[in-house]
Amino acid sequence: MSGQPGSRNIIAVASGKGGTGKTTVATNLAVAAAGLGKTVELVDCDVEAPNCHLFLSPEIRETRTVHVAIPNVDADKCTGCGECAEMCQFNAIACLNGNVMTFPELCHGCAGCWLVCPVEAISEGAREVGTVQRGTAGDFDLVYGRLRIGEAMSPPLIRRVKAEASEHVEWVIVDAPPGTSCPPIAAVQNSDYVCMVTEPTPFGLNDLVLAVGMVRALGLPMGVVINRCDVGDDEVRKYCDSEGLPILVEIPDDRRVAEAYARGQIAGNVLPEYRATFEALLARIEREVTR
Ligand code: SF4
Ligand code: SF4
Repeated sequence: MSGQPGSRNIIAVASGKGGTGKTTVATNLAVAAAGLGKTVELVDCDVEAPNCHLFLSPEIRETRTVHVAIPNVDADKCTGCGECAEMCQFNAIACLNGNVMTFPELCHGCAGCWLVCPVEAISEGAREVGTVQRGTAGDFDLVYGRLRIGEAMSPPLIRRVKAEASEHVEWVIVDAPPGTSCPPIAAVQNSDYVCMVTEPTPFGLNDLVLAVGMVRALGLPMGVVINRCDVGDDEVRKYCDSEGLPILVEIPDDRRVAEAYARGQIAGNVLPEYRATFEALLARIEREVTR
């Protein structure tokens, strides 16, 4: 159970759009937690563009290929009844004039078609969607997924990456893909708390409103990190106030942080005041989670 001393807390770091500083927050949170002697694991679920490893240079211990289930149809057994195509919600299998065709790239691996086939003409096959890697980055492990080039469906890989998170750490920090579609939903789902990163600009507010709607639909508690807090206007703060969303921390627009990012460095490792900022953010999240 989360929220209890010694229990595991899964914190998703999310944003309505890319480029808000989500990965900076996720990596710095993990480094701050480890520096405080907490057991922590960082899980990079941004499988289309994973980049936490660029800042942490983990020593990779394990690489595994991830597959999703797809139907294999035995034409000799198939009677052309069409029940499989009727069952499929994703148009991944079709039956035309008694001939069955499959579209593996659309298949979600739900198993519906082989369960309904009255003559057991469908067996379970496999399609590669990407890899999961685990490595050591200083005092903690980094787990990250990488979607196969050309692969359109990332949620099955994201769920697999998230499932790799250790049960035996106090903190799991999840770097979620940006946006509000299926990939971020897969990454954020079943977290204990969502840390929403935004900027105080009209674009930042627009995407924050959408992302807050997504997290509310999932029924998860959340708070907001305002990055580059000294640019833009006050509309994000007013929105958070009106919606009862706690502002967890405000991070200034500091050229030194941008330079550290460009060099592939963790801001909290090279700028001590930012280590304190992220320690304070972790403490604030801990209070929110245990409320
Ligand atoms: S496994 Fe599910 S998604 Fe895939 S073809 Fe069968 S019914 Fe459709
Ligand atoms: S349900 Fe089975 S028998 Fe019917 S069309 Fe599909 S594969 Fe063929």
